[in-house]
Amino acid sequence: MSNPAAPTSPDQPLDILYVGGMPRSGSTLTDLMLDSLPGHVAVGELFYLWRNGLLHDGLCACGAAFSRCPFWQAVGQQAFGGWRAADGERVMRLQHEVDRTAKIPQILGRRPRAFAAALEEYSGLLQRLYAAIAQVSGAQVVVDSSKRPSLAFVLRSMPGVRLTVAQVVRDPRGVAYSFSKHVELPAGAALGAAMPRSSTVKVARRWVTVNALVASLGAFGVPTVRVRYEDLVQDPLRELARVAAAEGRASEVDRTVVTDRGLRVPETHVVAGGRIRLADGVLPLRLDDAWRREMDPAARRVVGAVTAPTRLRYGYR
Ligand SMILES: [Zn+2]
Repeated sequence: MSNPAAPTSPDQPLDILYVGGMPRSGSTLTDLMLDSLPGHVAVGELFYLWRNGLLHDGLCACGAAFSRCPFWQAVGQQAFGGWRAADGERVMRLQHEVDRTAKIPQILGRRPRAFAAALEEYSGLLQRLYAAIAQVSGAQVVVDSSKRPSLAFVLRSMPGVRLTVAQVVRDPRGVAYSFSKHVELPAGAALGAAMPRSSTVKVARRWVTVNALVASLGAFGVPTVRVRYEDLVQDPLRELARVAAAEGRASEVDRTVVTDRGLRVPETHVVAGGRIRLADGVLPLRLDDAWRREMDPAARRVVGAVTAPTRLRYGYR
């Protein structure tokens, strides 16, 4: 976080910048960069805070376990009078009930009574969590890179929240290739070997669905800006300025963080997110396009076919 401003008061609107899109699209990198915008604090994928932080006491990016991180302990105190008063299992049940792609129509439309009650309880907890993060950090904007579309719709429905969405996209063939590298392969299989076709198709289909849903927030009145991973790596300052403009804010990026040599990984309290949150020092901004050379040609064609025409609209030939 940079340039801390005056803490927000409870009657002020809560500004949230939500990073939405497919996993493996450079969202953790985006998250860390957005932290360099004035008054912004990046806290990673808040959807997973309850599971990774509260229930499993995972490692915070500051190096301390969640239960020993002074930032998160202060947030828990501020939000709930201490994490002991928060029920992580219950929140995960609520997430299953309301915070899923299949539930977006109900978040937007007519809500059965049980659903409305669960959504209200969940929203109330989130309200306290985000407000506490803003207060403890002194930031004006909380950056949440949970990515999933449903949480963006939940935030949109919360009173007192001013939401902006940064839709991160990456060439779907790069995304599918990245997913394939994380699949368990038989012993002795070459690194980068093709994953089963069904998985390739599944990732491609999900890329289309997730991007359509995140982009649709614009039609529901949420300021939305699309950030291509490939552009962000090439010209981070321009892309960060576009995000700030979508928020209606100043865009002076902290140049000690985004330098000509790369991204100086800021000290954050990100609890859930990609591995680079734990990196130290300067992260060179280099385009990862290994898929162009190493992806199985058949898988590449399949992904290309399934994701057109969205892919072409986003400028991926
Ligand atoms: Zn921490």
